Amino acid sequence: MTDKIIRIAIDGPGGAGKSTVAKAVANRLNIDYIDTGAMYRAIAYKFLNKGFTANSINDPDFKASVNQILDSSKVDYSQGVTTLDGEDVSKAIRTSEITAAASAFSAIPEVRKKLVALQRDMSRRKSLVMDGRDIGTNVIKDAEVKIFLTASPEKRARRRYEELIQKGLKVQYAEILSEMKKRDDDDSSRDLNPLTMAEDAIRVDSSNMNVNQVVDLICDEIEKHS
Ligand code: C5P
Repeated sequence: MTDKIIRIAIDGPGGAGKSTVAKAVANRLNIDYIDTGAMYRAIAYKFLNKGFTANSINDPDFKASVNQILDSSKVDYSQGVTTLDGEDVSKAIRTSEITAAASAFSAIPEVRKKLVALQRDMSRRKSLVMDGRDIGTNVIKDAEVKIFLTASPEKRARRRYEELIQKGLKVQYAEILSEMKKRDDDDSSRDLNPLTMAEDAIRVDSSNMNVNQVVDLICDEIEKHS
């Protein structure tokens, strides 16, 4: 690769394999990877720790404290580690409670404003791979390569199910599928920066592809811009 700056935006629904693929692409190119979902998860973790839940969003109490909580929160993502107020929360933010809460709290304009500004700062003047829901449509609108990575809900739920079973967790496929569909709906229907494909993105359906095939395809696209 040349010294040219190349920013790769990977968006798509939950469970499409974005982070696995994004990490592998970043590794191959030896550039940074930023998981923006982890940042939304960290904020959700903070709200939950403050005693708020996804159901609190319209409560006056919550509305009165949002800005103060956000102003006093320091979220960072670097080298695969997510920190909240200096504490490594990388593992703690991977529970299903946080998954649901992150989706709910990410619809709050103040939350998006803070995290989008941070993500734009992180992506300034350097090559990187950033994954999320609104990277190609909002955070880095002029990204050199935009990928919309998707797969059928059934495939995504099956992969997530197998991953959790391998970790020794007791889970139900039907429950995972229904949670996944709900999150797809919520993420795609929110008013602010919903999950949509950028007009200039390349749509990759990974339903019948393995990780290496997806990574190869994305690297071929990147090659065209180098
Ligand atoms: O990607 P991940 O599943 O970790 O994201 C958790 C949640 O954070 C998503 O369901 C979505 O609601 C939110 N998110 C977002 N914008 C992003 C990344 C994640 O709204 N760029």
